[in-house]
Amino acid sequence: MAEAKGEAHGCIVCGRLYQLYVVHDSEGKYLGSKVMTPGGKEVQGYNRPLVACERHSADEIRRAADRVYGRPDADEDE
Ligand SMILES: [Zn+2]
Repeated sequence: MAEAKGEAHGCIVCGRLYQLYVVHDSEGKYLGSKVMTPGGKEVQGYNRPLVACERHSADEIRRAADRVYGRPDADEDE
């Protein structure tokens, strides 16, 4: 059974607060989240609820998230 609960998270880039629905499975594994506040979007790939404003570029978001949480485990050649 998945469990959803409401949480407030700040934008990873600028800190603006967004209301999210965060879903974990019965073992507490993070499954995903849905941003309820208009203007925000989910940032995927970090295994935790992360949100950013829609106006930030993908690059800006990734740099901010990498700075805080380290790189996602995907292999990227850069
Ligand atoms: Zn922002």
